[in-house]
Amino acid sequence: MSFEDYRGVWVFIEEKDGAIAPVSLELLGAGRQLADKRKTELAGVLIGENISALADRAFEYGADKVYVYDAPIYRFYRTETYMRAMLACVEKHKPEILLYGATSTGKDLASAVATDLPTGLTADTTQLDVEEDTGLLLASRPAFGGNIMATILCKKYRPQMATVRPKVMKALPRKVGASGVVVEECLPLREEDIRTKVLEIVRSTTRRIRIDEADVVVAGGKGLGSPAGFKIVEQLAEALGAAVGASRDVVEAGWIGHHHQVGQTGTTVTPKIYFAIGISGAIQHLVGMQNSGLIIAINKDPAAPIFQACHYGIVGDALTIVPMLTEAFKSALG
Ligand code: FAD
Repeated sequence: MSFEDYRGVWVFIEEKDGAIAPVSLELLGAGRQLADKRKTELAGVLIGENISALADRAFEYGADKVYVYDAPIYRFYRTETYMRAMLACVEKHKPEILLYGATSTGKDLASAVATDLPTGLTADTTQLDVEEDTGLLLASRPAFGGNIMATILCKKYRPQMATVRPKVMKALPRKVGASGVVVEECLPLREEDIRTKVLEIVRSTTRRIRIDEADVVVAGGKGLGSPAGFKIVEQLAEALGAAVGASRDVVEAGWIGHHHQVGQTGTTVTPKIYFAIGISGAIQHLVGMQNSGLIIAINKDPAAPIFQACHYGIVGDALTIVPMLTEAFKSALG
């Protein structure tokens, strides 16, 4: 393997509901910095049906080039079809670095591609950098249960691949009208050769809003005392149409499921408004929510560290204050 053959930074561009998924825009922002440092180009790989128009959007967010696989066989994400397209593209055009969002689709595709290519994959990265001269990707992520940050290198193989957590990188401001090079690619894939068939797409009917997508997150901590106490957080969230977040101690106590956990070993969130109720503000919690637009903390201990991280703080008993807030919001919002 000659490293000189491998050039450019690539981003797998995920499509969601007819638009580019936010994480892919974030990765174009991060990829742009890596590509500029390496003085190379930033390319996107777009796979789907009737998705060619999204290439223009990728240019507006930093891409120089987009490889497009646009055919009915790619209408729904299937590991096999997308993997074959990505493998073909990598083998033909040889990127130095290839990034995927750490979404269910991105993780599935990256791991499938990694099993076929003679290279490694760093999963769930939260920081990226590149050595200007060697092109070595410095992919960092929490390791050993979040106790250390590990920087993982792929010294002997190319491309260097990583999945990157949503909401940790920043998308560039949109440059309306920016253009680039579209490379249309085609593979002789036949539906009858693909083992997986999508028979029906059934949308989840759960009323719970995802914490990583919500504009408002109401999060509760151990200070609420019991599962019954935690209900007041859920009631406030419902009144506001918000997602319910939780500290790790609450999740470990079994009051709510792990996908509600905010923090280093949970999900990173950046809502417009974040309520931290009965949460002390341990560093492992703060790293998962400190970039929220407006942080409102309620805690009975005036010395709780959360008050150093919030924009507005209410010192008092959450079990009294939160039901009052819920009623006030309910009547204000009708
Ligand atoms: P506590 O620390 O017990 O705080 C409860 C707070 O509630 C206190 O400040 C108290 O003053 C207040 N309170 C009590 N009663 C009331 C009341 N009636 N009204 C108002 N306030 C009240 N934590 C996470 O959250 N996310 C993570 O991803 C995470 N990852 C971790 C990874 C590692 C490797 C380690 C070691 C720890 C991790 N933690 C994580 C745990 C973290 O260190 C804290 O233990 C945890 O966040 C504390 O949860 P808490 O704030 O709900 O509980």
